Amino acid sequence: MRDSLDDFSTDTPSRRTFESLASLLLLLVILAAPACGQKNDSPSIKLDQVGYPIDAQKIALISIPARTFQVKRSVDNVVIFEGTLSAGATDSNSGDSVQVADFSDLRTPGTYYLEVPGVGRSWTFSIAPDVFSRTYYLAMRAFYGQRCGTAVNLGPEFPGYAHAACHLEGRFHSSSGKQGRRDNVGGWHDAGDYGRYMVNSGIATGTLLWAWEMFGSKLKAIRLNIPESGNGTPDILNEARWNLEWMLKMQDDDGGAWHKQTSEHFCGFVMPEEDRLPSEVIGTGKPPYKSTCATADLAAVAAIAARVYQPFDKDFAASNLRAALAAWTWTERYPDVTFKNPPGVSTGEYGDADCGDEQLWAAAELWRTTGESRFNRYFVDHYAKYLPALRTLDAESWRVVAPMGLWAYALAARPDADSHSLTEARDASLAAARETLKRTRRNPYHISLNEGDFRWGSNGLAANFGMELLVANALSPDRACLDAALDNLHYLLGRNTFSISWVTQVGTHPFRHPHHRPSGAGHNPQPWPGLLSGGPNADRQDPVLRGLPADLPPAKVYSDDQGSYASNEVCINWQAMLVFLLAGVMP
Ligand SMILES: [Zn+2]
Repeated sequence: MRDSLDDFSTDTPSRRTFESLASLLLLLVILAAPACGQKNDSPSIKLDQVGYPIDAQKIALISIPARTFQVKRSVDNVVIFEGTLSAGATDSNSGDSVQVADFSDLRTPGTYYLEVPGVGRSWTFSIAPDVFSRTYYLAMRAFYGQRCGTAVNLGPEFPGYAHAACHLEGRFHSSSGKQGRRDNVGGWHDAGDYGRYMVNSGIATGTLLWAWEMFGSKLKAIRLNIPESGNGTPDILNEARWNLEWMLKMQDDDGGAWHKQTSEHFCGFVMPEEDRLPSEVIGTGKPPYKSTCATADLAAVAAIAARVYQPFDKDFAASNLRAALAAWTWTERYPDVTFKNPPGVSTGEYGDADCGDEQLWAAAELWRTTGESRFNRYFVDHYAKYLPALRTLDAESWRVVAPMGLWAYALAARPDADSHSLTEARDASLAAARETLKRTRRNPYHISLNEGDFRWGSNGLAANFGMELLVANALSPDRACLDAALDNLHYLLGRNTFSISWVTQVGTHPFRHPHHRPSGAGHNPQPWPGLLSGGPNADRQDPVLRGLPADLPPAKVYSDDQGSYASNEVCINWQAMLVFLLAGVMP
């Protein structure tokens, strides 16, 4: 996600017009559907198009008044389950009135669809014990597709989804305090653009490493079919390492980390190897040139890596620890060097006025890894100020990392923890999750988002609430938290007002036009697989969203249009939260 607007100068007007018309038509189809009462594949039946685990609650939502529903088996259209719909409830976020079809008692594995008399039939879905394993595979493998500095090829499973090695040359920008070549090959393209940004890399990579730490036993055998597969290290760690190594290269000799490596402005909608703009290491423009948020994020993530990679590559783990300690020392010396785009640079800023939460996260992770009392003391002295950040999570997860710090301290459960601080961090985390749980149960769409949460990256926030609930479940096991986490996943996979899956090539009716250069510039019929859309955004920071009807309720301010970077871009931070959520709910 970015806070600078993208550059569309290379989009042809006809394409833009076509895209806008296409999105308008889609919208009209969706709005018109209730009146038409179409018989097949009705978007008025909203359900998880991937499906439901066998023992989980299974709910679909119907947005046209009806009385009964049937679940039919896809293979022979035999009715397997019948039920009565609940009374309607109005969802203020979307304006929809929805009735619940509850078929939780159906536990027979298979592929099904719902038939609702007077409404139509739903998209197909599965009931299976491992129903989300394919989605996890695609969502995690999507990071491989974002690799920079190497040729990428998704192989025979996705013929044509490939790009040549990109951004192989780099140099220092004048704002970095240095000059000359700085190749820094590696890392992931951040989003729909080809920039690489330390703070967003921080939350994304940290979240993936946490997914490994918390759910590794479920993930270790999952082969992602990436170049490192079979090397003895679990593939989620192989993939995370690709970005981690780039992050380590962004550290200067004094321990500080530059904020980002991008071109001065966004390139057009071209494949990555066709982007000829110089890839530049960009700094703050004046001493000490590196930024505190980027450096503290590096300290936090490298500290996690130091413990996570220990069983697989001791040398790599040790180099991460050295990097983390050097970065920490730098932030002690420079606790408040913030970043603003220097003159002439218009790529994502990822600006943040307060790097104290990044330092809190770094201290918690360093203490968790090393047990050194100085890190414990830092946490104890600073955490209280950040407890309110737990009460409601922020869509800008890269900017507000205090929850990661507080959860890290609570999850570490080290014997040398300060008991008062541990109790507060743990109790506040659990109390916040209980509020989220209550809100999710009250919400007619069974999601955790608050009324004001339909902002840039709202889908990532839904996944992040899922993460909050899964962390709470780890601190104090509670099936209800797991169910509510699952509810947020159902929303992302089709149980939403649009009845679309917000993960490319996943589900029977996924979105098609992400703001993602390799999808837009390539010649494949579908976008690159496994990518999560940013989701509805009532702030409307792009022309496509501003062109939608002015009176749309917040949850409906979305367009499946490549031009809608404010609602339909992909991004590594919310992608990582989707992976965490999937990893957490898989059996
Ligand atoms: Zn690249």
